[in-house]
Formats: sequence, C-alpha cells, structure tokens
Amino acid sequence: MTMKEIDMAICEDIVIVGAGISGLTTALGLHRLGVRSLILESSESLKCTGYALTTWPNAWRALDAVGVGDLLRKKFIQIEGFKVVSSGSIPLGTEQSRLLGGLRFNFESRCIIRKDLLETLESELPHGTIRYSSKVVSIEETGNFKLVHLADGLVVKTKALIGCDGMNSMVAKWLGLENPVSTGRSAIRGLARYLDGHGFEPKFHFYSTWCVDCGFVPCDEKSIYWFCNFSPSFHKYNEENQDPLSMIKFVASNLRDAPLNISNIVERTELDCVCYAPLRLKLPWKALLGNFAKKNVCVVGDASHPMTPAIGQGGGSSLEDSIVLARCLGKALTTSNVKEEHDEHIRVEMGLQMYVKERRWRILTLLTVVYIVGFVQHAGGKVISFAKKRGIFTKYLVQIMAKMGAFDCGDLSIP
Ligand SMILES: Cc1cc2nc3c(=O)[nH]c(=O)nc-3n(C[C@H](O)[C@H](O)[C@H](O)COP(=O)(O)OP(=O)(O)OC[C@H]3O[C@@H](n4cnc5c(N)ncnc54)[C@H](O)[C@@H]3O)c2cc1C
Repeated sequence: MTMKEIDMAICEDIVIVGAGISGLTTALGLHRLGVRSLILESSESLKCTGYALTTWPNAWRALDAVGVGDLLRKKFIQIEGFKVVSSGSIPLGTEQSRLLGGLRFNFESRCIIRKDLLETLESELPHGTIRYSSKVVSIEETGNFKLVHLADGLVVKTKALIGCDGMNSMVAKWLGLENPVSTGRSAIRGLARYLDGHGFEPKFHFYSTWCVDCGFVPCDEKSIYWFCNFSPSFHKYNEENQDPLSMIKFVASNLRDAPLNISNIVERTELDCVCYAPLRLKLPWKALLGNFAKKNVCVVGDASHPMTPAIGQGGGSSLEDSIVLARCLGKALTTSNVKEEHDEHIRVEMGLQMYVKERRWRILTLLTVVYIVGFVQHAGGKVISFAKKRGIFTKYLVQIMAKMGAFDCGDLSIP
C-alpha cells in the first residue's frame, strides 16, 4: 500500500474480526471497562449456526461477568441432571447434577438458543460497534499497526487485532497456526418446537453406542435441542448433502430403534432448524507448540482452539477467553498515565501476552480431554465395548463434563 492509501484507511484502536460468541463477548467485556472496539462481521446479520448450545457454570460465570447472565436465565430452564442410556438400552437412572463428581453445590447448566445469546450480547453493545457485510480478506503490517483489508475495498488501520473468526480463522492463518484436523465424524443437530409444550423433564438425555452419540436437551418449555454425532463413511452419508429434509430423514431412520423417543423429536424439526457440520479439532500438541498471540494480534474461541462437542465446552471456553482477554487488555490500556503512542503499542502487546499466559494451560487441558474422550468414544476393543454397554464410559463422561465446566475465569475487575 502507498502512504497515501494508508492515510485514507479508517483508524480504530481495537478491531475484532467476527461477531460470534467470542467476538461479541470480547467487545462487551471491553465496553464494560470503558474501552471501545469495532467488530467486523462478514455476514449481513448475526450468524446463528447450530441453533443451541449446552452451557455449564464456567459459561454462566463469564456471562455474569459481562452482565447478561440474568437476562438469559429468564429465558432458559435449569437442567437438573442427566438421563443416560447405554447401547444396550439400560437405563442408568438419573444423576442429580449436584451429585456429579461431588464438585459443586450450585451447579448451573442450561441449553441456550444461540440466536437469543447473540442478540442479547449485541443489544448491550453501543450502536455502531458491529460493521456487518465486512469480510476480512487480508492483513498487512505497517510499523506498529495492522492494516485490515475488507472484501468491499475498505481498509481499517488498528493498534490491536483480535481474531474471533471461528474454525477457518484467517487471523489464525496469519499467525501461522495450523488448521484443525478432521476427526472423521460429523454432527447433525436441530431445534424442535412444540407449540403446546413438550413435557420432557429438564434433563440432558444422552444415548451412546459405539458408532452414534445422540441426545436432546430442553431449552425452555417449548423448544428441544437435539444432536446426532456419527461417522459419515460408516453410515454412507454424503457429506455434500445439505438438504435439510434428507438430514432429518437420515437421523430419524438411524435412530428409529433408539430409546428416549429421539426419532420422534427429530421428525418434528422444521426444515430451517437443522444443520450439518463435520467435526474438527486442534490437536493438543499443536496448541502447545503454536502461539495464539504475536505482537498486537491474537485469536480467541474457535479461532484459537477449535474442538469437537465431546464435552460441550467450545462455546463455554470461548466465553472464558473473552473475559480474560478483555480483563488483560483493559488492564494494560487503562492503568497507564502515559499517552505516548509508542507506550500504547507496548501496552497492547503486554495485555495480549498476559492473556496467552493465563489461558494456555486451560486450553491445553480442554483440548487434551476432548482428544482423549473422542479417542475412547470411538475406539473398538472388548474392554471399551464392555464399558460402553454397562454405561461406565458415559458415567465417566458426565463427571468429566462437570469437572471441566466448574472452571472459574474470574470477572472483569482489574486488580
Ligand atoms: C456440532 C457442534 C455442537 C456444538 N455444541 C456445543 C455445545 O453444546 N456447547 C458449547 O459450549 N459449544 C458447542 N460447540 C462449539 C461452539 O459452537 C463454538 O465453540 C463457538 O460457536 C465458537 O464461537 P466463536 O465466536 O469463536 O466462533 P463462530 O461462532 O464460528 O463465529 C465466528 C464469526 O466470525 C465470522 N467470520 C469468519 N470469518 C470472517 C472474516 N474473514 N471476516 C469477518 N467475519 C468473519 C463468522 O461469520 C462468524 O460470525 C459445538 C460445535 C459444533 C460443531
């Protein structure tokens, strides 16, 4: 770029790429600390892929930190426990959540509709924080600044660039991080609506065989989120097929004999409430070697540590990242009296390094747990098959979920 073109670029102190869970929460965290940011989102409006997600206490602590926890609690019911059924259809009974792993007394878990989550976060942001239809196509370095090029030709010059742009993050590519790898498994998930109420207990209903994991969770009295994880090659599923009706038929027919009435729930799903996603993850040792921040650029959420839904922590850990990053960056930027530009750049770098230091082991732990759970879940062999049939594996899984969900990322107060 010529000097003249650089001079014509619009300037923003902090630019966030992506208005998903992590982008909106990071912007809101910074806003609560009095720091302005601009979000660049490629879609024309909020993108709510996936319909709903299960959340644990770690997610609720983060949502409380940015002040939206109670707004969402009003909409979504508290999940009281698990109803787990093993491959032999042996009911294992219900474990009340407070007994799980004996970890917490006030164990909070809800299944929240993504649209409500994103809209609630957006509604708390100052008008103009999000610039829609703004696809970032390249990043350039000029001195202490980054130049962010958009598909529409606009260039934004910034002191701090935060990549919240999901699995296929271009900010992560710019940082030299490796792409997530395929697990060979995929998920079809959807949201079923019952206008007169569904009548299911507020429990996480889970059913697992060696080739399929599926289940459903009520979000509120009228909506049920369901999911089915499977191997497309084993089930001869055409991955190119994005037709919602055949997705519903595929899941319903494969779960026809499953307990818990899952296929009936799947068949009630509206065609615009079902989607398919291949499951990918970042290998833990790649996360150990890669650095998710360099100078004034960092990545958050799926852009930093894409993971499978094996323990339902992708969204929760993205929320944790956002709180920690907002706190570290907020601290670095607001506790200085020196206003010189050079000093500000050093402070941004310090803030991002503090964030990396605080998050590294938590992220490594999560990626390792997700990797091991996935490996065991889909491994063959007599011992593992026995453990699955007796429901032992699922019982352990539930305890692992509870343990990973008990994490506390802290609030936004700056020490
Ligand atoms: C099948 C499945 C089930 C899951 N279930 C759960 C669950 O139960 N609980 C849970 O906690 N997590 C779950 N997850 C994980 C969770 O969905 C993700 O971890 C979470 O959505 C990550 O949020 P994010 O904001 O980092 O990324 P995303 O939600 O992917 O948001 C990225 C945003 O960036 C935008 N963007 C991308 N590229 C650009 C660009 N170049 N320029 C501008 N904008 C761009 C996108 O349009 C998008 O809005 C599940 C994931 C899958 C696949």
